[in-house]
Amino acid sequence: MGNKKSKLVVLSGAGISAESGLGTFRDKGGLWDQYDINEVATPEAWEKNPELVLDFYNKRRELCIQAQPNQAHFALAELENHFDVHIVTQNIDDLHERAGSTNILHLHGEILKAQCSINPNDVRVLQNPIIKIGDLSNSGHQLRPHVVWFGESVPKMFEAEDIVRDADIFVVVGTSLNVYPAANLLYACKKNCQKFIVDINELTNVKFNNVKLFKGPASTKIPELVDHLLQLNG
Ligand code: NAD
Repeated sequence: MGNKKSKLVVLSGAGISAESGLGTFRDKGGLWDQYDINEVATPEAWEKNPELVLDFYNKRRELCIQAQPNQAHFALAELENHFDVHIVTQNIDDLHERAGSTNILHLHGEILKAQCSINPNDVRVLQNPIIKIGDLSNSGHQLRPHVVWFGESVPKMFEAEDIVRDADIFVVVGTSLNVYPAANLLYACKKNCQKFIVDINELTNVKFNNVKLFKGPASTKIPELVDHLLQLNG
């Protein structure tokens, strides 16, 4: 037991993948700017215009396949040599996986998978990056992207809270913490947990004490944070 590694939990959001070329919600001119979220990322949108929804996610899937992990993803993967690392990500891309992280919970789903539009537990890895109208699940219903839309429940939220609850170190990176319930994870960790936020902007909506802010781009600030953690805890 003497050599037990400290538990380090990372909550990541769109900002960690921004420097890999995948736009965040807030980026001007990005994919989200060209579409109204209500028209592409809600159950109502799927009901109204499934072609548009599939088209939006087909484009995002293509961008995800072309993108490469950046130094922030790689530095987090490296941390597994020193800590018991758990990544809870709001991202639907697979850049943490491709950088080498092995313990990842996708709160909002995965773009490279599809699910049955009737049974959300019927999930498959896509062989072809395009989902078309007429592509069916095992039970004969239309396939949809395996992503959690606005207005849908987040089935992995309880699992995520359990992961965060006994963290010794909690790192939040590249998330505006505007999307609930994921933002609540900040408040699930224990009092003496060491907390860090890495973001290119100041997060004005975060009200918790004893947080160290690493302000700047994730690709340089995460490696800096990793050095800092190794000095403190290594
Ligand atoms: P958000 O767009 O609301 O916030 C992004 C945050 O990242 C902001 O605080 C911004 O200041 C910060 N940021 C931007 N560039 C950065 C950089 N280079 N380095 C460090 N920080 C940077 O994103 P969110 O909080 O993740 O919520 C958005 C929702 O949209 C999530 O549910 C997510 O599933 C989805 N989303 C996913 C992706 C993806 O999978 N790559 C991309 C866009 C949106």
